[in-house]
Amino acid sequence: MRRIDYHTHTCFSPDAISQPEEHILEAIHKGLDEICFTDHNDFVEGGEWELKAADYFQALLPLKEKYKNQIKVKIGIEVGLDMKSKEKTEKLIHAYPFDFVIGSIHTIDLCDFAAEESYFEGKTKQQFHSEYFKAMKECVESFDCFDVLGHLDYVRRYGPYKDSSIDYDLHQDIIDEIFQILIKKGKGIEINVSGFKQFGEGLPNYHEAKRYYELGGRIFTMGTDSHQASDVGRYIDEAIDMYQPIGFHDITTFTQRQKDE
Ligand SMILES: [Zn+2]
Ligand SMILES: [Zn+2]
Repeated sequence: MRRIDYHTHTCFSPDAISQPEEHILEAIHKGLDEICFTDHNDFVEGGEWELKAADYFQALLPLKEKYKNQIKVKIGIEVGLDMKSKEKTEKLIHAYPFDFVIGSIHTIDLCDFAAEESYFEGKTKQQFHSEYFKAMKECVESFDCFDVLGHLDYVRRYGPYKDSSIDYDLHQDIIDEIFQILIKKGKGIEINVSGFKQFGEGLPNYHEAKRYYELGGRIFTMGTDSHQASDVGRYIDEAIDMYQPIGFHDITTFTQRQKDE
């Protein structure tokens, strides 16, 4: 199986620090086959999370060329899927030649629940998780401008609850519907290995990734969600060991939003 990092953030994201070139050097150092940059774009108030896409391509294209004999470099984006910013999001994706697009639910009705404590007022954990998966289902049904769904069970990190873990059984029906929509549309899921640090497994967990496969899904990417260069490639080997028994033979990679052969 190829070893890739298809989820990385650089100084083009407001929550990350490293220069893109440092990421590439780390990926080469770790012996990866490919790295894809996926800096953030979320259309939330203030504009801070909007990617300066022209500058981004201007910075990355020369690096892709410079290192082409050492590693494949792809230029992607992690775009927030939110029904309230659908048109703007589609316009952005179609305006630039991205290789790969992760679609993630970071906001619900443009509220960044990871940062807004008020979002949880009067809500049980179950209600929060229901709202999240409902928003996800609506977005994967409605949006086409993404290739894989980002960190399916990301909400297990958030909320004012003593135990923020997800009761998957309670939400399995809607998760299955989400997987079926993705499969029908020819879209994949990512295994976001940043979960290894906190949970000892990726996002989604093994059981949910296996469920996507059992329903017929075959498109898996893998990424660290690194926000600093030293994290590029971290936990990729552990994730391959853990998830490969699901049955897929290789990871999927993309060029110009088409699956590589
Ligand atoms: Zn994300
Ligand atoms: Zn990310």
